[in-house]
Amino acid sequence: MRIVVVGSGYVGLVAGACFADLGHEVVLVDNDEQKLAALKSGAVPIHEKFLPELLARHSSKRLTFSSDLAEAVHSSSTVFITVGTPPTEQGEADLSYVESVARGVAGAINGYKVVIEKSTVPVYTSAWIRTVMLRNGAAPESFDVASNPEFLREGTAVTDFLYPDRVVLGADHERCASLLRQIYEPMASGSYYRRQDAIPQPDRAHIPPRMIVTSAKSAELIKHASNAFLAMKISFINAVASICESVGADVQQVCQGIGSDTRIGTRFLSPGIGYGGSCFPKDLTAFRAVARECGYDFRLLDEVISINEEQRQRFVRKVRSALWTLKGKRLGVLGLAFKGGTDDIRDYEAAAGADALLILTEWHEFSTLDLDLLHSQLKYPIIIDGRNLYDPEDMMAGGFTYYSIGRQPAVPESHIATIMSTKNAGDVRFMGRKVVDGISAS
Ligand code: NAD
Repeated sequence: MRIVVVGSGYVGLVAGACFADLGHEVVLVDNDEQKLAALKSGAVPIHEKFLPELLARHSSKRLTFSSDLAEAVHSSSTVFITVGTPPTEQGEADLSYVESVARGVAGAINGYKVVIEKSTVPVYTSAWIRTVMLRNGAAPESFDVASNPEFLREGTAVTDFLYPDRVVLGADHERCASLLRQIYEPMASGSYYRRQDAIPQPDRAHIPPRMIVTSAKSAELIKHASNAFLAMKISFINAVASICESVGADVQQVCQGIGSDTRIGTRFLSPGIGYGGSCFPKDLTAFRAVARECGYDFRLLDEVISINEEQRQRFVRKVRSALWTLKGKRLGVLGLAFKGGTDDIRDYEAAAGADALLILTEWHEFSTLDLDLLHSQLKYPIIIDGRNLYDPEDMMAGGFTYYSIGRQPAVPESHIATIMSTKNAGDVRFMGRKVVDGISAS
């Protein structure tokens, strides 16, 4: 099939490259000329495993880049919208980019088209796209609007796209549902996965993925509700982690205990500094705004959001309690300074001469640091781990003072006086034994 993808950001570029790998002819349209020039010259603007291979395989063949939306629409019957939907100041989704694409498509219609929203949008957006297109001269019979929400995660975007748990096809008419099914047919039939050159299958892949056909409104809600539910799981376990810290329990053990109930599951039950990134925060506030507009006060979401904000403040307090005063101190940060999967990480430059090291993301590279080297690089061997990547006992044995989430700080004997004088340090373990109970909880 010939497919137009409008917006060549994270979702559009990955979707376009993957559609090409499924065997379709794809035109990726963007209004950012610089980005297009870079893509045409073979640059890969985002760090995503397998994306360079897919772009090298298909660019200038089944995958082309263009700034001409009208021309792209003329030559294709399916148009995916993958432009950004950033938050407004009020927390709603800014749909002006989506609207501008809808206007552009309306002006270029030359036969039946299906316009498919893949951007994350509030319920009723498909109805609004339809209205905008009708207002801009598109004949009612000349197009349908469908919703095909995207669930990929940055970092594993290509495999998430090609090996999803499910594909949601939100279509209100059979003729557009059948076009959507054709696009995903190589995945639904399993033929893609039998190919020698298919992108390798990740662990836990559902093959073939479930195709879930719904109304457009249901599909729109599925995306927002999924992200809200996942964020709720994160805030829930972070709240439990805070209780663990107060009572001296180990949140990792608690996670194992609750996560092994198959109704709950272990995934997204990872205590840490809370959710972030470009999607969850904005999608939650957008979903809350949608609910309010529909007359439902979704107070649960307010709590999820406020627990998440509190979690970051708790982490900052933890840094203070590890270092006492912060003015003039140098903190190495793993999670901002480096990207996973690059050689930079192995140089540990962030740690050199730092008063303490903060771990803020769960990149695999950060969980396999050379601890002896790290110890020698840090001014003081203090690690505050916002992702629970290490075992406190191991860190203590390696001579580190180690703070994590939902577990007691681990402190070697030689550092104990420092901690004794620290506020809010909680219990302190010494080589596996708890030696200081309930240090100042003020
Ligand atoms: P992005 O900002 O990386 O990319 C958006 C692209 O759209 C940019 O390249 C921009 O130049 C282009 N664009 C904007 N207006 C345009 C127009 N009128 N014509 C042509 N191109 C235009 O955004 P993203 O991260 O790819 O997200 C896109 C959508 O997908 C959002 O709604 C987001 O919530 C959703 N989503 C994102 C992810 C993710 O992990 N990033 C996952 C699932 C869903």
